[in-house]
Formats: sequence, structure tokens, C-alpha cells
Amino acid sequence: MERTLSIIKPDGVKKGLIGEIIKRFEQEGFKIAAMKMIWMNKKQAEGFYAVHKDKPFYNSLTDFMSSGPVVVMVLEGDNVIKRNREIMGATDPKKAADGTIRKMYADNVEQNIVHGSDAPETAKFEISYFFNSLEIVD
Ligand code: UDP
Ligand code: MG
Repeated sequence: MERTLSIIKPDGVKKGLIGEIIKRFEQEGFKIAAMKMIWMNKKQAEGFYAVHKDKPFYNSLTDFMSSGPVVVMVLEGDNVIKRNREIMGATDPKKAADGTIRKMYADNVEQNIVHGSDAPETAKFEISYFFNSLEIVD
């Protein structure tokens, strides 16, 4: 069993897509092992996306991620990191495959509805950024 961190970003929450996205995860057979709604401040968003701190989009991205509440989740399942990335679709919704969350709902490459960890090491860091072990259902 593998774990990944999912975030419904501020645009997804504002568009009323929390239910749709959770439903999709459940239909996919992912187990939701933890979930909460939070509103990150700029510093917290910067810490989460520290890996991108030298990118030109870092300041705008962290403004966006701290612009409203998000839903953070730990998803669990076989190969869930890769499977979640497939369901999300490409970072840029214009390049995302039909039926993916980003293709269906995202406005642009920044405001792209969902985040998903991209590898086991990043999943570990990202899960521990938001959840302690007592908050994750075993
Ligand atoms: N992003 C952006 N402009 C870009 C690339 C990425 O604003 O040219 C934002 C977008 O919200 C993306 C996040 O930065 O989801 C993290 O980028 P990454 O390359 O890790 O994409 P992801 O893993 O989310 O598909
Ligand atoms: Mg990424």
C-alpha cells in the first residue's frame, strides 16, 4: 500500500468541486486515510512548494495557494502516486488528456484544481507537512 498527498486547490474549492473530486477518488478505489480543510498563509504555501523556489512562477503560485481554503488529503492504495497523477492529468490543462480532472475543470497552468505528490519521497515530505501520524487512519 502506497500513500500520496492530494490537495484540492483554492480554485477547486471556489468552484464547488470538493464533492466531485472526492467522489472520483472513491470511484477509483483510493482509500481516504486523512482529510482536512485549511487556509495556508503565504509562508506556509512557500514552505510546501520550496522545491520550486527558483522557478519564475513561485511567487504567483504561492499567492494563489494562499488565496483561499484548500482540502488536503492522504490517499492510500496500490500505485496510488502514479494513478492519482493520471487522474489529475498534465500540469497544463491544455495538454491534459480527456477525462482528467485538470482537463475537465482547470482554467490554466497555475490554477489547475488539484495537487498530487509525484514520487514516494515527495509524498512522504508532503504528507508530513500537513498531517501527524495520529491524524492518518491506519
Ligand atoms: N505552475 C505554474 N506554472 C508553470 C508550472 C507550474 O503556475 O509553468 C504551478 C501549477 O499550479 C503546478 C504547480 O506550479 O501545479 C507545481 O508545478 P509542478 O511542475 O510540480 O506541476 P504538478 O506536479 O502540480 O503537475
Ligand atoms: Mg509537482
